[in-house]
Amino acid sequence: MQVCVLGATGSIGKNTLAVMALHPERFQLFAVSAFQNIDGLAEICREHQPNYAVVPTDAAADALKSQLPISVKTEVLVGEEHLSTVSSAPEVDVVMAAIVGAAGLLPTLAAVQAGKRVLLANKEALVMSGQLFIDAVRKSGAELLPVDSEHNAIFQALPSAAQQHCHSMDAAEHGIEKILLTGSGGPFRDLPLATLATQSPEAACRHPNWSMGRKISVDSATMLNKGLEYIEARWLFNCSRDQLDVVVHPQSVIHSMVQYVDGSVIAQLGQPDMRTPIAYALGYPLRFDSGVASLDFSQMMDLTFRPAEAERYPCLQLAIDACWSGQAATTTLNAANEIAVDAFLDKRITFAMISEVCAATLDNAQLSELTTLEAILACDHAARDFASRWIERRGH
Ligand code: NAD
Ligand code: MG
Repeated sequence: MQVCVLGATGSIGKNTLAVMALHPERFQLFAVSAFQNIDGLAEICREHQPNYAVVPTDAAADALKSQLPISVKTEVLVGEEHLSTVSSAPEVDVVMAAIVGAAGLLPTLAAVQAGKRVLLANKEALVMSGQLFIDAVRKSGAELLPVDSEHNAIFQALPSAAQQHCHSMDAAEHGIEKILLTGSGGPFRDLPLATLATQSPEAACRHPNWSMGRKISVDSATMLNKGLEYIEARWLFNCSRDQLDVVVHPQSVIHSMVQYVDGSVIAQLGQPDMRTPIAYALGYPLRFDSGVASLDFSQMMDLTFRPAEAERYPCLQLAIDACWSGQAATTTLNAANEIAVDAFLDKRITFAMISEVCAATLDNAQLSELTTLEAILACDHAARDFASRWIERRGH
């Protein structure tokens, strides 16, 4: 199989290459992309020798080429439009969509429209364009497999008849009562509420269980990550409001669960290591070695559960409400959050202000339905503008 890894230098990208390297007889690397870490991309090209590498600028291309020996035949492409060129190339069988944020939308959609097997890590794409994205999957017959650990766990816990069409399934027809998304609660889950406002970016990025990119780490601390995942689950599994719940599970051993009408709850358990869902999605329906050790039940600590406190996680409630108020709300929330997280990582706003930026941007937004890509991108830009101006006025 020929694989295209968008966002190859990131946390998911590197884990994908690591799993692929365990099965060289199965997978060849066709194309990779990176945005800032050109040294990391050069290392990947030297080791895996993909046919193409996509970078954002001519300067990045020069920097990459200067680090590649003559023997490496990787062709370097410049500009974001080439992310879509490689993700939809006829040679490609599988696309790992692992760019972070809105930048991943167009190349992921291009892969969907070209009918590829799309391994979706980039949850923001689905949050921004839900119905349009799923309609494109239906139309092209692309195979959409969730990589996000929760959605991968849910997918694994579905009956195989439901797996074949989960984005259009009638959950009740399969005896499904509820989908239970679990989340660790992030690094601040046990801190006194009064200390939250002043938490630093370093503390927010120190996730207790998972090692991830900086943006998603902050999203885990606010639990907006779980909110984005809630929206992602709604589209991936065609859920209604009463079929979807969030549970805090600090140990991150259960990665999510499906509750059936007969009282059964089916959960997927494993180490908090993204190579497991990546290997599952790469191999589906086969299973093979991911490089991850099994759980050791003789060492297993307790598994505990608690509700997500509304005062601790205001972003989560914003996301749940946005999910049911339509596409403009989720697109707006996603854009505002990206701007807010950037500003927080840059120490221009406090941790508590992330939810304030999101709430103010949602309050200001025109919540009409968005049915075209142009309308979605316009809504995204308007939200970014508003959030940036809010931060200029109120940040420091
Ligand atoms: P990361 O920050 O480690 O890597 C992001 C990748 O995207 C890098 O390769 C970077 O070069 C590229 N990129 C960044 N901005 C870009 C832009 N403007 N244009 C083109 N490329 C750009 O992020 P990550 O943790 O690997 O997360 C990637 C995606 O997977 C996110 O959508 C995240 O929500 C999702 N995800 C990650 C994890 C995890 O464990 N890391 C788990 C579930 C889902
Ligand atoms: Mg997740």
